[in-house]
Amino acid sequence: MNKKRILSGMRPTGKLHIGHYVGALENWISLQHEYDNFHLIADYHVLTTNLNSDSIYQDSIEMLIDWLAAGLDPKISPMFRQSQIKEHAELHLIFSMLATVNRLERNPTVKDQIRDLHIENVSYGHLGYPVLQAADILLYKGDLVPVGEDQVPHIEITREIARKFNNQYGEVFPEPEPKLTAFARLPGLDGDAKMSKSLGNTILLSDDAETIKTKLRKAVTDPLKVRKNDPGRPEVCLVFSYHKKFSPSEILEIETGCRSGALGCVDCKLKCTSNISSFIAPILEKRKYYEEHLDEVKDILTDGENRAQKVAKITIQEVRDKMRLG
Ligand code: ATP
Ligand code: MG
Repeated sequence: MNKKRILSGMRPTGKLHIGHYVGALENWISLQHEYDNFHLIADYHVLTTNLNSDSIYQDSIEMLIDWLAAGLDPKISPMFRQSQIKEHAELHLIFSMLATVNRLERNPTVKDQIRDLHIENVSYGHLGYPVLQAADILLYKGDLVPVGEDQVPHIEITREIARKFNNQYGEVFPEPEPKLTAFARLPGLDGDAKMSKSLGNTILLSDDAETIKTKLRKAVTDPLKVRKNDPGRPEVCLVFSYHKKFSPSEILEIETGCRSGALGCVDCKLKCTSNISSFIAPILEKRKYYEEHLDEVKDILTDGENRAQKVAKITIQEVRDKMRLG
């Protein structure tokens, strides 16, 4: 029996942060043997929030290195750039007739972005972000899309577009399902918003221990725990939410220590620094290897693009046939 297919991507906005890892990449890695996987570098999508394209190629390579360093296997999973497979643009055009402006204006993810980034005049392409994303997913007939929570509304739009196409022209596309991890929305270092490159509140997958220590020193904790021995409330503490992921074997001890006042915030942050850096250490090691073997990274990209191209070509022909475009 054919394996079900995963399609998931990320925008190449530079090096990845731990939110990308715990929200999406971790699932890509853990599911890579069970599914047939395609991983997209969404380079056109970067233009929705930054028109300067000078660093897109370099940023794509950086992100690919992070994917490889974290454990994605290029032999199993093709990794490729959206901009190199022209069928994405073609399917996007067809899908753009199937998505209403009204529906896109109600999309909460773009609304949040407009608010957070203070965008005054949203572009046609930014509003249509989920339509291009639907094309990205459906070109490969993705069944499952492992993403963070902010992306769930986009998968819903993808499902609606698939349904509309199938009803109008005949069955071509599956209706993909989102797949979340246990940490589908990791908060950023400033506490309230999600960890996000554009908000500058990140711990990078490539940060060393010293950098993580400096970043965590400023992280907000329970405002009522003023002195070291004051009792704290882990449920309102940002650092505790990181411990939940990165300190699983010590979590009870940390929680009790915080509540009783035995564990002060400085020591708690040092413990968190140490556990995050031990988690990142093997990824950093592998990153170093790929940084020194850039030709290998570029070959992986070329190979991924050739493999993705073949699938894209077949799907787009199927679409054209159903639409009687020839
Ligand atoms: P950023 O939000 O940092 O600017 P981005 O918007 O450029 O990143 P995306 O391509 O939107 O990057 O995100 C890649 C994947 O990582 C998506 O599945 C997204 O849901 C997930 N993700 C990003 N940030 C977080 C987070 N803080 N917690 C959980 N998942 C996240
Ligand atoms: Mg995002």
